[in-house]
Amino acid sequence: MELEIKTLTPLWTGGVKSGRVDRIQETGIIGSLRWWYEAILRGLGGKVCDPTTQKCLYDPEKPNNGLCDVCKIFGATGWRRRFRLVVHDHTTHDPSVEPRVVSTRRYTTPGGQTRTPTWYFPDNLNDKPRSGNLTIQIQGTTPDFQPVIIGGLLQFVADWGTVGARAQMGFGVFEPANGRLDTKPLYDGLISSAGTCTYTTIPSLQNIFLARIRLENATVRDTFDLKYDLRQLFSGQQNSPLRHFIMGTVQGRRMAAKVKISRPYDNGLMRVWGWIPEDAGVYQGFWNRNSVVDVIYHHLSTNYALEVWREVNSPRDTVAPNISSTQALLRSLLRLEEGDNAE
Ligand SMILES: [Zn+2]
Repeated sequence: MELEIKTLTPLWTGGVKSGRVDRIQETGIIGSLRWWYEAILRGLGGKVCDPTTQKCLYDPEKPNNGLCDVCKIFGATGWRRRFRLVVHDHTTHDPSVEPRVVSTRRYTTPGGQTRTPTWYFPDNLNDKPRSGNLTIQIQGTTPDFQPVIIGGLLQFVADWGTVGARAQMGFGVFEPANGRLDTKPLYDGLISSAGTCTYTTIPSLQNIFLARIRLENATVRDTFDLKYDLRQLFSGQQNSPLRHFIMGTVQGRRMAAKVKISRPYDNGLMRVWGWIPEDAGVYQGFWNRNSVVDVIYHHLSTNYALEVWREVNSPRDTVAPNISSTQALLRSLLRLEEGDNAE
C-alpha cells in the first residue's frame, strides 16, 4: 500500500546516528509506530516485552518462537520485521524551528536572580526538522501480514499522537493527505492478540491520556510555556524527583518526559498526551497516578479551551466518561463506534 502524509508540526527523525543523510529516516517512523502498537496492545492485556529491559530473542525451540505479539510484527534479533516501509521524502527544512525558544515566564533562583526559561535545539545537526509531504510505501514481507494494519496505526497516531524523535520539542504531528485510512484491520489485529496481562510501570493504553487544547493565536512559545507551567505544578519542595519523572530532565540521569506537548497547528490546536504509570517510587505515598493526571487535566481545562480528553475508566474523558473497557475506548479512538464520526 502507498499513502501520503502531510506534516502539521515539523518532523524530525534524526539524531540517533551521526553522519546520516539529511532526510526523513524510515527507522524513526517505524520506531514510533512500534511504540504506539506496544502501548495499545499492553492496554488490551496482550503479551508485550519491554524493549528497554527484556527484549524478545528469536528461538525456534520456544513457544511462539520466543516472540511476543509485537516482536512478531516489528521484528527482534533473529526475526525479520513483517513489513517493509519506504519513505519518498518531499519535505524541506522547516525554517520555523528556531535554535532557541525563550519563555514568557520568569523565575527566581535561590540566589535571588531573575531568570527566563529557555529551550535550545541544536542547530548544528546534519539532519534538521522538516515539513511538507511524504509518501510512505508499506509492503508485507510475508503473505500472512496485511500492510493495512500499519496504515490503520498511522491513522491512530495521526489522530492522537506524534511520530519521530523529540516529541517533547513539539515535533511530529501529521495527517494523511488523501483522507482517512481504514482502522478496522488494526483493531482486528490488536484484538486477536488481546489477553489478561497488566503493566503498571510502562506505557499502556490503560495509563495513557490523549488531549487537544485550543489557544487562539498560539505560537511555539506557548508550547514551551505550557511545558514550564506543568513542570511547576510538580515542583513543590519535596517534588523535584516527581517533576523530573513526569516532565523529564537532562540533568544527571537523563529521563524522557512522559507528557508531550505539540507545537500549535490548525490555528492554535495543541496536542497534549502522555502516560503516567500506576506504580512509581517517586509517588512516595503522597501522589498516585490519578492525582498526577488530575493536576494536568485541571491545568488544561482551566487555562485553555479543552477540545477533547480521552482516557480509559475516567470521569475526565470528554467523549465517553468512565468507559471501563480498553477495547471500547480503542474502538472509540479509532472511530469504529457509531456516532464517533461526528467528532
Ligand atoms: Zn517482544
